Amino acid sequence: MIDPFGRAISYLRVSVTDRCDFRCVYCMAENPTFLPKTEVLTLEEIERLCTAFIRLGVDRIRITGGEPLVRRDVLTLFERLGQRLDGGGLKELTLTTNGSQLQHHAARLAAAGVKRVNVSLDTLDPGKFRAITRCGDLAAVLAGIDAAQSAGLKVKINTVALKDFNDKEYERLTAWAHGRGIDLTLIETMPMGGIDADRLAQYLPLSVVRAELAQHFTFAETEHRTGGPARYVRVYETGGLLGFITPLTHNFCESCNRVRVTCTGTLYMCLGQEDAADLRLPLRAAHDDTMLDQAIAAAIARKPKGHDFMIDRRHAAPAVRRPMSMTGG
Ligand code: SAM
Ligand code: SF4
Repeated sequence: MIDPFGRAISYLRVSVTDRCDFRCVYCMAENPTFLPKTEVLTLEEIERLCTAFIRLGVDRIRITGGEPLVRRDVLTLFERLGQRLDGGGLKELTLTTNGSQLQHHAARLAAAGVKRVNVSLDTLDPGKFRAITRCGDLAAVLAGIDAAQSAGLKVKINTVALKDFNDKEYERLTAWAHGRGIDLTLIETMPMGGIDADRLAQYLPLSVVRAELAQHFTFAETEHRTGGPARYVRVYETGGLLGFITPLTHNFCESCNRVRVTCTGTLYMCLGQEDAADLRLPLRAAHDDTMLDQAIAAAIARKPKGHDFMIDRRHAAPAVRRPMSMTGG
């Protein structure tokens, strides 16, 4: 699948649920309205959708959410898709999780063929962790990370940079993660969805963070890539990698290779644009995949050049109305 700007689309992110056991302040409202179950694709439909994308050229799939591991029986989806690894068209199957349930599922994920997992963790302070997630238990997440590493999964930590919240913690987080053989990626907060908090108050440009961290660490530029938008440096003192995802200070769309499907089967060709294609209709209209394949091809043919995220006083409204928990990170 080649889009109008010559980019090959080989990476699919699939949100398997809009539900979550956390309520991170930058992601969800305190009392979000979740979708009725009838609107959400069954696990069999999600598998069929993924199979269509694999047939059309996708070779990496990341399962996300909401919180993917709170969806009942989701491990069966990993096991079914895992069968497409090793010669079945899929090179990599991964997930992004808040880690709360990871201790219960790590071994089965590894057995299904998952090799890497991204865990979102914004602070190592239990009280702050509870505050930012509104209900999360840091100890459970740390136990999940332990379980993942014991199961042989390569863990990466994603941390959203939040002004006046974790801005004094990046040095500690870097040392902690690298000390455990875990790479760390810092992410700028993106203007998505109506949340209760003030987006401008949370926004911290990573250019500032990087300059501050450079006073404590020595960075070596690296070409290391994981197929995503992060740019990495090697930290001389720890030996680990530190990534920066900067959708606001640096546009990363030129190399975009991905599209996203929500748990209702809506295909978003860009995280930061409203245009979308409904894949649930062709999926449910026929057992045959002809209409589905056509709908996917038509959508890829109008993938936009990029997003226009911006956070300043003149742009107080979100760039897109849907929250990150809908399209998945
Ligand atoms: N629940 C899982 C988790 O937290 O990892 C997966 C879904 S979550 C929406 C995926 C990622 O998006 C998380 O790393 C989260 O921190 C990030 N995220 C959510 N809202 C964001 C926002 N407005 N700006 C930047 N990152 C955001
Ligand atoms: Fe849930 Fe992930 Fe959103 Fe936090 S960032 S509320 S864990 S979906």
